[in-house]
Parts: sequence; C-alpha cells; structure tokens
Amino acid sequence: MAGTALGPARTVLHGLFSRILFPDDCRCCGQPLQKISRIPVCQECIDLAACPIEAEFQCVRCRAPFLNRETLNDDGICAACAAEPEGLDYAWSYGNYDGRLRRLIHIYKYERVDTLAAPLARLLLDALPRDEQFDVIAPMPLHWRKRWDRGFNQSELLARAVAERSGIPYRGNLLRRVKASEAQAGLSFAARQTNVRGVFRVTRNIAQGQHVLLIDDVLTTGATAASAARLLRRTGGASRVSILTLARADRRYAWRQGPDPSAGKKARAAGA
Ligand SMILES: [Zn+2]
Ligand SMILES: [Zn+2]
Repeated sequence: MAGTALGPARTVLHGLFSRILFPDDCRCCGQPLQKISRIPVCQECIDLAACPIEAEFQCVRCRAPFLNRETLNDDGICAACAAEPEGLDYAWSYGNYDGRLRRLIHIYKYERVDTLAAPLARLLLDALPRDEQFDVIAPMPLHWRKRWDRGFNQSELLARAVAERSGIPYRGNLLRRVKASEAQAGLSFAARQTNVRGVFRVTRNIAQGQHVLLIDDVLTTGATAASAARLLRRTGGASRVSILTLARADRRYAWRQGPDPSAGKKARAAGA
C-alpha cells in the first residue's frame, strides 16, 4: 500500500531533482542549456530579447508608435492620452511585445517560471529613464483570484527587484485590485473605459505629492494603467503617475487589423 502511495510522490521528486541537477533545453530557443540553473532560459535569449520599437511617430506621453502624424494632436499626444488628461504622465517600455521578449514573458507568466523575474527586472532597469525622479515604485496589482491561480503576481516580483536595484522605495500597498476585469484587447475605447471602472481601490492621500512609478509586464491598451493613475492622483494624492513595462503591444498592428474603429475615429479627430 505504501508503495503505491509513494509512487507519484517519488516521480514528482525525481522530476524536480533531475530538473535542478541536469540542464534542460532552453524553453525559449530550444538549444541545450550550458549550465545548471534555476532559470530554464539561456543567457543569449535574455540578451537578445530586445525587440526595439521603431517608429517615425510616437506619442510624447505614452510613446505609442504610429504610422503617421495625423494620429497625434498638435502637442504630439495620441487620442487615448488626450482622452485621459488625468491618466499616465509617461509610459516607458523595454521593447515590443514580439519575438523573444514575448516568449520570455509567456514563460514567466503562463508557464509560471518565477525565477525569470530577476533577469527580466534587469531589462526593466535598462529601460528606466535616468533623467526622471521617482518617489515610489508600485506593482500593478492582480485580482486575488488570478494571483491564486498563478501563484504569484508577475508585476510584484519585477517591481520589488527594480526597487531593490534602483534604490527607489517599494510600496506594495498603494493600489488594490477589487474587480477582475475582462481582457482589454479588441474592445472599443468606450468599452475599455467601462471595463476598467471600479477595478482599483486606493487609500486617501496614500501617495501625497509623490511621483509614482507603476511596474507591469505588458502595456496593451493602457486603459487599465490610466485608470490606476487617475485614482492614484484623485484619491491617493499623487502628483504624477508613470509606468514602466517590459513590453508594449504595438497598436499600429491592432489598427491595421481594424478592430477598434472608435479609437481610429478619435485619433483622426485629435489629429485634425
Ligand atoms: Zn535560448
Ligand atoms: Zn499616448
């Protein structure tokens, strides 16, 4: 009886030990790993992760890339930012949500390899603007149910590591997520606004007069981050709110596929 009960446990243990002791193939490129590591990805995949954002036109606030000048208003601001004057001050990203960087984020988040937090945080540090002053670093919070499913909040591990290495104080309790919102991609501008309403909770004056730097893995539409920023300002008392992410989804391609006519219309109106 004991043998049958131990069987599965032994298999699990054996799997664990062999994974720790014998290098596997890199989960990103498939090449055999050269050394034993808790990170199942080769150094080259991390070093070559950058998928630079190349664009002739970029919003001066969120740095979203655009195909032409008409998508930006006279101040160089895109429609999404113009519609959210109390949204994010700035958004910085390490690279495009594509190629190796996208794969690394998937391994980290969906294959739940939390040991990737340290090397990914180094990429965030590379993208941290040197000429800006930040008072606190805060992670984008996950709804508790999602955190429970994943076992960790990917933004929290990154934010802690960036705070530790940059010396900027870490504040894990600035924002609370009280509602699990649906995915933002593919929704119209108005639907995104409704979708993010009431998602976060903030304590009054918790960030009084501070420049808050939010950390997240991917910036997609920016609507969720903008709603967090608005709340941190209005209720939390923050003077400025910016975000640093590993990757940003390129809205140019989303627009080419044509799912968001209202955003296109607003952008043209803003550019006119
Ligand atoms: Zn690799
Ligand atoms: Zn913008």
